[in-house]
Amino acid sequence: MSNLFYQGRGRKPVLDQARGLYMWDTDGKRYLDGSSGAMVCNIGHSDPDVLAAMRRQMEKSTFGYRLHFETEASEKLAARLAGLMPEHLTRVFFVSGGSEAVESGMKMARQHALATGQGSRWKVISRQPSYHGCTLGALAVTGYAALTDPFEPMMRMMPRVPAPRAYLDGLDPDDEATGHHYADMLEQRILEEGPETVLAFILEPVGGASTGALVPPKGYMERIREICDRHGVLLILDEVMTGAGRTGTFLGAEHWDLRPDIVVMSKGLGAGYVPLGAMIVDERLVEPVLDAGGFAHGFTYAGNPLACAAGLAVVDVIENKGLCANAATMGGTLIARLHGLMQKHEIIGDVRGKGLLTAFEFMSDRDAKTPLPRELNAYQRFVDIAYQRGLIVYSRRTHDGYSGDHILVCPPLIATEDHLDEIIDGLDASLDQFAAEIAPQLA
Ligand code: PMP
Repeated sequence: MSNLFYQGRGRKPVLDQARGLYMWDTDGKRYLDGSSGAMVCNIGHSDPDVLAAMRRQMEKSTFGYRLHFETEASEKLAARLAGLMPEHLTRVFFVSGGSEAVESGMKMARQHALATGQGSRWKVISRQPSYHGCTLGALAVTGYAALTDPFEPMMRMMPRVPAPRAYLDGLDPDDEATGHHYADMLEQRILEEGPETVLAFILEPVGGASTGALVPPKGYMERIREICDRHGVLLILDEVMTGAGRTGTFLGAEHWDLRPDIVVMSKGLGAGYVPLGAMIVDERLVEPVLDAGGFAHGFTYAGNPLACAAGLAVVDVIENKGLCANAATMGGTLIARLHGLMQKHEIIGDVRGKGLLTAFEFMSDRDAKTPLPRELNAYQRFVDIAYQRGLIVYSRRTHDGYSGDHILVCPPLIATEDHLDEIIDGLDASLDQFAAEIAPQLA
């Protein structure tokens, strides 16, 4: 019996070592990390340059409270991140994780509204389904009933608009009219709520755990920006999962030349080496807040020197090894290989993604887009089968407008064709076993 507990009762194997894309448990079993943990370990495990940078920083200092000191590491990482953002995003606020980054983004937007005489604005519209974190503020904009329902009395739930599910609605994702159709739901919602009450819209550029690598249809992002501008609503881009190269560019926003007002990042920035997150803000938002007395928000571990030194080394690795470009190339190959699996395995109903944020979704009837019966727990069963075979893939089911039986395949951005071969072989064998196991229940 362990003293630890997370979600359920089952005890997991004990991790011993991890290198590159591989992990070993204390029984010596090897696993291929086909999901980078939870889309975190973008540069692979145990990168020697990051470990060396952490050692160097540890010899100097491991903590300096943000209200007492700047550190070389935090200043350098802030400058580096600002250089990687659209040019108006110049001001960086460090945190230790994705939920903290989302909370920071929403509070920054609110304080800016207060500082500029727009105190009536407080609603942050988000999408259904979506995932923005598990703290109560981030949860209030998370479209994921199983996680939000128990806590509803304890928070102020925010308005939602549907995420653009063109593939399920039978709409062509390459037609601008489709993008406009979904984006216009935002405008309608803003008008219903009263534009003077709406503070911000938060979205993930490519959906993560909630929608399984859902890529927005053509025209959606551009229209979203226009609508936000028209109504004085700030655009908060949640790049917690998509940031740091995951989709083939440093930020997901680059695919659409999108100019968000606030970007939040985390997972791939610390890349599993350290807990680290960042909010990067348009300077025009920050100055009025500082003039009005400062940002009333902050976490004890903000700008931790060890975390920032590791983050800086991670960004170096991403740039020096050309990992954004590799994610774009390998992502294209992976999507093609997943389409190959779809041809062979009837149970796969859709394949999608961008860069190395890719997913496939199970359906019992591909043409009719019929989901598998919920009680099959297909997503969990498939993940378990693959895990037993030493292949780690990721899934979380939302069921909020989607079947949610999607499997994320998101290896570290250092993946090679050989790694993809191994992943596809593992998926192929797991799909055979999975189809055989559920066949009696589907009959
Ligand atoms: N936003 C997005 C898009 C995420 O994927 C996640 C984590 N899955 C979060 C926010 C929350 O991050 P964390 O778990 O680090 O708090």
